[in-house]
Amino acid sequence: MFKSQNIPEDYAIYVHIPFCQKRCPYCDFYVRTDAYRNLFLYNETLFEEFDKRKNEFSTLTKPFSLYIGGGTPSLTSPADIQRIVEYWKQKGLENFSEISLEANPEDYQRFLEFYQVGINRLSIGVQSFQHDTLKGLGRNHHVETAIKAIETAKNLPYRSVSIDLICGLPFETTDVWIQTLKMAVSCQPDHISVYILSVGPNSAFGKRAQKGLLLLADEQKIEKDYLKTIEFLSQEGYDQYEISNFAKPNHVSQHNLSYWSGRKYYGFGPSAHSYSGDKRYSNFSDLQKWSASVHKETMEYEFVEELDEEKHRIETIAMNIRLRSGLNWRDKRLKIPEKKVSQLLQKGLAVLQNDHLILTPKGMLKENAVVSFLM
Ligand code: SF4
Repeated sequence: MFKSQNIPEDYAIYVHIPFCQKRCPYCDFYVRTDAYRNLFLYNETLFEEFDKRKNEFSTLTKPFSLYIGGGTPSLTSPADIQRIVEYWKQKGLENFSEISLEANPEDYQRFLEFYQVGINRLSIGVQSFQHDTLKGLGRNHHVETAIKAIETAKNLPYRSVSIDLICGLPFETTDVWIQTLKMAVSCQPDHISVYILSVGPNSAFGKRAQKGLLLLADEQKIEKDYLKTIEFLSQEGYDQYEISNFAKPNHVSQHNLSYWSGRKYYGFGPSAHSYSGDKRYSNFSDLQKWSASVHKETMEYEFVEELDEEKHRIETIAMNIRLRSGLNWRDKRLKIPEKKVSQLLQKGLAVLQNDHLILTPKGMLKENAVVSFLM
């Protein structure tokens, strides 16, 4: 999104709750397993942060979505979630705005209460419908619990129920992955996010892989899983609106979309990122450092990047190309030579629709290389 372009004067809010029951061996996010000790500190600091940073968005109209992610936000009480929702409602968040919560399947007994305190979209971390795969991923929940969780959410008046799945696993064949997809659609979630396993270097899997104790899936296996996913989910009526996201009609996540379409968002809590239109910045990925920075006279950030026109150009290419709506390559500010577009078309990595360059499934798999090529 260019500086000179009109960015809508509303904004998305992300709240990061960094607590999980245990750390999954592939996870590299900022999470902690000591909620019992630090939840009070977290909650109190979070509301101080909301107040402290209100000048950042005081000239904007109102929040259009609230996403409470983590970590495992469903570990916290509905009363704590209600406080967050109410705070943003006072800032203009409407009841009909998208208000999402990430939830662990094991917390399904709280889904009614989460709905009652204002959550209208649930994103359930299912990951797999295979017992052995869940074990391999170090997840606590069982397949039956995942099914029960989706059923519970679907029987409540949530506007959208989404599930997360992981593909490209080294210890699961593509046939087994397809079984997971079949189970997923039989539960009829409104939205499915499919992530290719990404192993952070500091995660337990990452360390094992570095020592040669864990073989990660090769590119061919990942490609097979991913291409099958796109084919299968599109046959089942899920529209792929972004590289990892598939939705039934009217269930595209407005919050997710805001990240790739260049809308402003403000993130709160440790490690949360913000984008104000002319800069990107992130909070400290450490509870104590984050808390100390909130309590300083002027809040400090772990990372701040001012975006000049060149950075905006690169970001616009990198973000818009992820979307089904694609990238308007004829926009002169993007400086994309026609020759490069022709090369992408010839290689079958993209197609053109009304001057918009849209990645094919093969192109989506090579998204990083395509972005570097276009830059
Ligand atoms: S993968 Fe999700 S549930 Fe597991 S540790 Fe990371 S944030 Fe927590």
